[in-house]
Amino acid sequence: MSSLTEVLSAEAIAARVGELGRSIAADYANRDPVLLGVLNGAVPFLADLSRRLSPQIEIDFLSLTRFGTEGRVGIKVDSATSIAGRHVIVVEDIVDTGLTLSYLLGLLETRNPESLATATLIDKTTRRIVDVELKYRGFEVGDEFLLGYGLDWNGRYRNLRSLWAVLDLAAFQADPDMLAREVFRRTADRLDP
Ligand code: 5GP
Repeated sequence: MSSLTEVLSAEAIAARVGELGRSIAADYANRDPVLLGVLNGAVPFLADLSRRLSPQIEIDFLSLTRFGTEGRVGIKVDSATSIAGRHVIVVEDIVDTGLTLSYLLGLLETRNPESLATATLIDKTTRRIVDVELKYRGFEVGDEFLLGYGLDWNGRYRNLRSLWAVLDLAAFQADPDMLAREVFRRTADRLDP
């Protein structure tokens, strides 16, 4: 049995991102939101989502650090956009315990946005420690470790078009190149030259 399995194909992700884009476009028909992406994982999702929206939207990013086992979070690099009075949509790759997002939302609230909503591609609902409202949600998954489409292993694999689950973490840790071999075996998921 393989230690890895593809859980969401590139086509399934693209179709769902299209649906989320249509919902956001309808909800924000008369408002120009700022999409605020959480680096680095939100990059592919934000890029694809933003291309489904009107040219009036703005894009910015920030990055966070996590320290301590209790998951305390701080800002590593802040966004440059002033969000006071703006309609902000925080864009995340995955929400797991919810600690990261709940910290970030608390911080952004102090900056007085006109409205604050969240969009995440993946929701690991069963792992939640802190309740956070996820207005736009791509897929609900179990608690397997995922890679691809923004999600990394030591900085790698964020650029895969599809999403993979690691079924045998020990085997994967011993040979992290196995996913690269698997992906490049498939023509459908080959990276552009
Ligand atoms: P939370 O604060 O919600 O527990 O954590 C969210 C962060 O945990 C994500 O931004 C991501 O960096 C990391 N994370 C959670 N689950 C996974 C996963 O399945 N795969 C990867 N690569 N990272 C994950």
